Amino acid sequence: MSTQTRVLVTGAGGFIGSHLVKYLKQSEYWVRGADIKNPGFDETAADEFELLDLRRWENCLQATQDIDEVYALAADMGGMGYISSNHAQIMRNNNLLDIHTLDASRINGVSRLMYPSSACVYPEFLQEEADVTPLKEEDAYPAMPQDAYGWQKLISERTCMHFQEEFDIETRVVRFHNIFGPFGTWDGGREKAPAALCRKVAVAKLTGNPEVEIWGDGEQTRSFCYIDDCLVGLHKLMRSDYHQPLNLGQDRMVTINQLVEMIAEIAGIQIKRKHIPGPQGVRGRNSDNTRLKEVLNWEPTISLEEGLARTYAWIEKQVQAKLDREHE
Ligand code: NAD
Repeated sequence: MSTQTRVLVTGAGGFIGSHLVKYLKQSEYWVRGADIKNPGFDETAADEFELLDLRRWENCLQATQDIDEVYALAADMGGMGYISSNHAQIMRNNNLLDIHTLDASRINGVSRLMYPSSACVYPEFLQEEADVTPLKEEDAYPAMPQDAYGWQKLISERTCMHFQEEFDIETRVVRFHNIFGPFGTWDGGREKAPAALCRKVAVAKLTGNPEVEIWGDGEQTRSFCYIDDCLVGLHKLMRSDYHQPLNLGQDRMVTINQLVEMIAEIAGIQIKRKHIPGPQGVRGRNSDNTRLKEVLNWEPTISLEEGLARTYAWIEKQVQAKLDREHE
């Protein structure tokens, strides 16, 4: 067998997973992708791609066979609209995915596993103001995440921690803060705020109707991290010896109103914001990157403006193609 490290990326048909496969291939890894669906927008770059339902134990055993390292990205997930209204399904699917992937990795002798957790693990009571104090890793306890999605991530973080302590497997846990970029879900109900807003602005531009709907008053705050930075940080963390949860995101906080105005400027149009009722998540959230910088000696560098410009350009093309199909 070759000396190349053999990596499994689960969720390789999804947004971060499909980008990660490309990144790892460029870094000379041998890569197996696994997902319940093929990548939505591009051919996979993986050496092998297996269509598998990873909630099932035997499929996880198959996926992790002859594998050195796993990035366990598969999850039932979406933006606020999705995670605020599918609690039982998210709990069930993600618990099955995570425990079966982790345990099959252990049984097959995988040496290292990366678990993608989320800023959604942080307690709701620390995120009630728009001008929120950035969240440090230790703020996750005492725990009170807003949704089942966050509780489930916290349970899997702890499962990883105990597997590392008691079994022969190294685990890494990353807490993503709103990763965005091209080649991600941009419509259909699972899209997250940056993609949804790029789509709405593109529709406004291409149809000439300047009205853009915003859930709530738009004064809720977040930070957003571009996918290329996410991949660099993820790989650095995997290679490090740090096995506590680590934030991975930008620490520049903007309101949703500011975000949509930035996108409109990129699109070169004036929009009219229409505020409507809708799920908003916590009022404010930002990443404290102190530990990220200490541990990885690095932090994300791609500006929000640059990341949005790249993402908007791709989404405008998708919207244009969809409008063309509708008019055929
Ligand atoms: P995504 O939805 O684009 O990708 C997840 C992939 O998992 C999808 O392709 C989906 O088909 C696959 N999947 C779902 N159920 C499966 C099953 N039963 N068997 C096999 N595959 C299955 O999401 P993403 O944005 O790429 O997120 C990747 C990981 O990062 C997830 O664990 C997510 O919870 C976590 N995360 C992402 C963000 C973000 O901002 N994108 C933030 C926090 C955490």
